[in-house]
Amino acid sequence: MARKLAVIGAGLMGSGIAQVSAQAGWDVVLRDVTDEALQRGTDGIKASYDKFVSKGRLEAHDADAALGRITATTDLDAAADADIVVEAVFEKLEVKHEIFRALDKIVRPETVLASNTSAIPITKIAAATEHPERVVGVHFFSPVPMMQLVELVRGYKTSDATLATAREFAESVGKTCIVVNRDVAGFVTTRLISALVVEATKLYESGVATAEDIDLACKLGFGHAMGPLATADLTGVDILLHATSNIYTESQDEKFAPPELMRRMVDAGDIGRKSGQGFYTY
Ligand code: NAD
Repeated sequence: MARKLAVIGAGLMGSGIAQVSAQAGWDVVLRDVTDEALQRGTDGIKASYDKFVSKGRLEAHDADAALGRITATTDLDAAADADIVVEAVFEKLEVKHEIFRALDKIVRPETVLASNTSAIPITKIAAATEHPERVVGVHFFSPVPMMQLVELVRGYKTSDATLATAREFAESVGKTCIVVNRDVAGFVTTRLISALVVEATKLYESGVATAEDIDLACKLGFGHAMGPLATADLTGVDILLHATSNIYTESQDEKFAPPELMRRMVDAGDIGRKSGQGFYTY
């Protein structure tokens, strides 16, 4: 019998997680607060399946079957009989707390409650529940159908059984996991990219090398697919400034102190591709 997954939040990430899970055979309940959000989410999933079909990477009947396994709803109670729940709503602790508090009451005792948060400590999210041992971070990357990695994050009280279930789920949808054993700010991936972007920005702002040469060094010297400054422009300098500031506040580790240039770029609105200007001009 197919197992049941509930995805809370039908935005960019939630719809991507629903998409890969349904394709892998999970029965998926996709919950959002409005019909419009659900429509946007399911339209996005359909468009993405269509693209895979047109590229010959998915059979049309498999795409239809996968779509048929997704039920869109505004009713949180539809998550009651899920084997695992993945929350992917706005990155706001209050919103996540409300959902985890409610889920904790309606799902079965053995159901795993996962959050796709990129930065909120899992321990803080779990604190809203009576059973923090069943709460875990399952951090997918965007775009979900393309990116291979899932970062599994242990909260302070996450049990081994919960972590194992989360891994089994992520692997069942074709992802490869890394485990973050302590619930540190920025987990592993955001810490690594923040440290690299901070140092690359310092080298650039002090005139040691041009943006192009810093990025080339990482691409040709280390085999990175994209240099750190181009990555900052793609992600958004504002997003990275926020991430690195958070990590710095929590860790008081100087290597995460945001360089002045990052702050001035954000003040000036030069936040990368989305504004047309960042470390590069678009
Ligand atoms: P998004 O803004 O695209 O979608 C959020 C969705 O949550 C919206 O559709 C909204 O209507 C819905 N929502 C809000 N409150 C809700 C509730 N109470 N119940 C159900 N749905 C609710 O956001 P996103 O980019 O998909 O990000 C979602 C989560 O994933 C965030 O925690 C974010 O930090 C994390 N994340 C994002 C990325 C990324 O690249 N965007 C990558 C990894 C992790």
